[in-house]
Amino acid sequence: MVEAFAVASGKGGTGKTTSTLALGMALAEEYDVTVIDADTGMANLLFHAGLDDADVTLHDLLIDDHDAAVSDAVYERFGLSVVPCGTSLAAFEAADPGRLRDVVAELAADTDVLLLDSPAALGSKSAVLPVVLADRIVVVLQPTVPSLSDGLKVQEYAHSYGTDTAGVVFNRVRPDENVETIAEQAGRYFGGQTLASVPESDAVRAARREGKPLLAHAPDDPAADAFREAAARLDVRE
Ligand code: ADP
Ligand code: MG
Repeated sequence: MVEAFAVASGKGGTGKTTSTLALGMALAEEYDVTVIDADTGMANLLFHAGLDDADVTLHDLLIDDHDAAVSDAVYERFGLSVVPCGTSLAAFEAADPGRLRDVVAELAADTDVLLLDSPAALGSKSAVLPVVLADRIVVVLQPTVPSLSDGLKVQEYAHSYGTDTAGVVFNRVRPDENVETIAEQAGRYFGGQTLASVPESDAVRAARREGKPLLAHAPDDPAADAFREAAARLDVRE
């Protein structure tokens, strides 16, 4: 494997799942990419990738004495290898989050780039492990100071485990928002680069409703261009 990225944020709803699939599709032009829904408590990547009916999911691989093979939970969609997670609360409670480490290690052996769609809060083992397992984090934020402050905490946490910051994706940016000022602040807070400024876009919502990643639903949308720009700036390590 080349590199593993955790797509993380302070709060929910900033666009992590949208970003994971968009960055994944952009990187898939050059690399073998595997996308994992590591948000095992609030999994919803399956809805973004048309995998609502997936039979075997990450949850099945996290249960003690399971008989599923990792490959049973890998679905080839949109040029990506996708490992969705189920939405059952009972399955989440039965799962041992620590097993994610072994699943990631097995998937890593067979791919170039791993993207871990990560949970928002940092309160539990299942929430922090994706950030700990990754080489670098991509922080997805809305362009506001409170959002930056949340993102900074995620970054501090990541750094304490030796995970570097790849940069910040500003998402849902409205035309009247001054991203330059915010990006400057981000540079100051994060000491890292702004990967892209992704506009608020109807196409993103429509893609979700269709159960398709943005880059499959509306590849020419300005938001899709911004995600491709972010992927290029990631500068995946060779
Ligand atoms: P998270 O994984 O961080 O919880 P999601 O990617 O699921 O966030 O996005 C949350 C909601 O916001 C979804 O309904 C998604 O379609 C919408 N959304 C995300 N990014 C954008 C955007 N750039 N423009 C419009 N809607 C967006
Ligand atoms: Mg999500």
